[in-house]
Amino acid sequence: VKKNFVLKGNVCYSASRTELKIIEKGFVVSENGISKGAFETLPAQYNDFEVIDYGDNLIIPGLTDLHVHAPQFSFRGLGMDMELLDWLNTYTFPEEAKYKDMEYAKNSYAEFLKALNNSPNTRSVIFATAHVEPTLLLMDELEKIGQVSMVGKVNMDRNSHSDLQEKSAEFSASETRRWLDLTAEKNYENIYPILTPRFIPSCTDELMHKLKEIETDYKIPLQSHLSENQGEIAWVKELVPNSVNYGDAYDKFGLFGQDSPTIMAHCVWSDDTEKALMKKNNVFVAHCPQSNINLASGIAPIRDFLNKNIPVGLGSDIAGGVHMSIFRAMVDAISVSKLYWRLVDSDCKPLTVEEAFYLGTIGGGKFFGNVGSFEDGYEFDAVILDDSKILPGRNDFSVTDRLARCIYLAADDTIHAKYIRGKEVNMI
Ligand SMILES: [Zn+2]
Repeated sequence: VKKNFVLKGNVCYSASRTELKIIEKGFVVSENGISKGAFETLPAQYNDFEVIDYGDNLIIPGLTDLHVHAPQFSFRGLGMDMELLDWLNTYTFPEEAKYKDMEYAKNSYAEFLKALNNSPNTRSVIFATAHVEPTLLLMDELEKIGQVSMVGKVNMDRNSHSDLQEKSAEFSASETRRWLDLTAEKNYENIYPILTPRFIPSCTDELMHKLKEIETDYKIPLQSHLSENQGEIAWVKELVPNSVNYGDAYDKFGLFGQDSPTIMAHCVWSDDTEKALMKKNNVFVAHCPQSNINLASGIAPIRDFLNKNIPVGLGSDIAGGVHMSIFRAMVDAISVSKLYWRLVDSDCKPLTVEEAFYLGTIGGGKFFGNVGSFEDGYEFDAVILDDSKILPGRNDFSVTDRLARCIYLAADDTIHAKYIRGKEVNMI
């Protein structure tokens, strides 16, 4: 049983995909970690709950990062003049190989965890590395800071560096089962395992078949990458020649959302057949606009995904992206949608601030269930924003305008406090 309480301040959350709900000097109620709703005046039944008054600060739902590579935090900003496959070989694989050393993993993950803790993100879906013990270490540390997370030990048995890739499909699968069994023994409160084949080029057919067996045995969700870069897509077609598209290459192994909730990162070049398959299987898009710019991957057609009712959330994609804050992903999502509209398809209207805010809260939060809102029944994740530092001497902005500025400036020092599942987080 968790402490019950009420937060008072300027409450902002999404009323729908296109509209904000703003309650000035309003109240949000947390009962045993679950929101009981947002109110202009506090209903009498909550009169005996402690009220924490945040004055003129903003109170928003926590943000969800649907795609982040924890071991890549340590080299973000490097290799940004490369495209995906060269960048993986030159920077990513050599760095991830270092994480087999527990001491290296501990020190490097500490930096990631500190940045995550001080960010507005309250939920994360994370790629670790191919190593079992270092992945468990990351999960232990995430549990300590209370960040609700899905974490994947990565599977990769081909086309990588010999010091990183697993020596066989058999080994990769048995290590994954060992990791899942050890995870079950931990009885984590906030951490969940997610099956993580890195991407088709890293996984042999034999491994993909074994991962399907694991998915069936353990009933866990899955994350991977999809249609990010054109060189990558051409390679997938060579590796799985009977596939009609990249999504179908996962689908052929039963690993494209048929039986388990599934997130695919990027989806920059998904065509109509791939989109139809995603829609059929309710595959989530993790839209990572900053990474798509940095690695010159392209612009994902988010407006079209939304029109087709394919679920979309936002990802930082550290270290393809360099910024942890999902505020920054909201801004980049809006920016690239304007370029797409202007340069690619004038029927795809740019995303609005309200829509980007929705994607970063409820859009990605949905992968965790009722997450990303203060409506009755949602899990109580909240971020308190003190924007006085970015508003020197001004008091003529509306709450809506202040929220837009907090999003656009994406400054972590505006984050005054954070609650996850009804528990206040210790900011470092
Ligand atoms: Zn990624």
